[in-house]
Amino acid sequence: MTTPTALMALPSGTPPTGAAGAGAPVPLGLGVARLGRRAEDLVIAGLVKYSTCDWPGKLVATVFLQGCPWNCGYCQNPDLMDPRAPGRVTWEEVTKLAERRRGLLDGIVFSGGEPTRQLGLAAALDQVRALGLMTGLHTAGAYPARLAAVLPALDWVGLDIKALAHHYGTVTGVETAGQRAFDALGLVVASGVDHEVRITVDPVVHTEDHLRELIELVKARGARRVVLQEARAEGARPAYGAALANRRLRDVIGQVPEGVEVRA
Ligand code: SF4
Repeated sequence: MTTPTALMALPSGTPPTGAAGAGAPVPLGLGVARLGRRAEDLVIAGLVKYSTCDWPGKLVATVFLQGCPWNCGYCQNPDLMDPRAPGRVTWEEVTKLAERRRGLLDGIVFSGGEPTRQLGLAAALDQVRALGLMTGLHTAGAYPARLAAVLPALDWVGLDIKALAHHYGTVTGVETAGQRAFDALGLVVASGVDHEVRITVDPVVHTEDHLRELIELVKARGARRVVLQEARAEGARPAYGAALANRRLRDVIGQVPEGVEVRA
């Protein structure tokens, strides 16, 4: 996920908030590549206790779930791709934080990785609401059926739409990914949930024509808010940084279409 808060921003070897130390034994109760349906089964890579940028206009805590089936060059959390990696934060740590910060936090955002990969997400969302907090989700739409199942439990979705469907193979390494992402867009729009569509402008793949066509397509499908984000070399794999060669969003698109936000 190209999230505003990236776990890779932590110094190498620094565990995410609340995590067991790097190399430390994994305590009992930390998920390891399980896909159970309980919130306690979630494999959680990290917890950011306060974020003002993961859900625009809201003060939230952000939970990073391990595992993603795609492999984007610009991924800011490449350590979160491996679905076999163990968790580093327990669900109990998340609920304790939510209880302590009730009245201060607006909600909890689930990010990743691809959070809809884990079946315990639905139970976790229900628990967050039961604690009186709102629920947000960052997703790239890799699992549309699982997304559909959790949409009723969500107050906000940040959906990554990465490219025109036929370019998804180049961006994610998975040729069928585009169909899934656009199915997810249709589900989010049809659900009526508050949302934004985030397009990471990837100078390695996008041309201005591609980008304008993509923005028009996303708007035509009913997206309420469209945001362009920078692809960054920092946090991504070195090979991506080399391919990026210091190009920025403005090197791809000079004049941003009206009504489209640019997020640094
Ligand atoms: S969809 Fe791409 S950017 Fe998002 S977590 Fe997966 S690999 Fe990273």
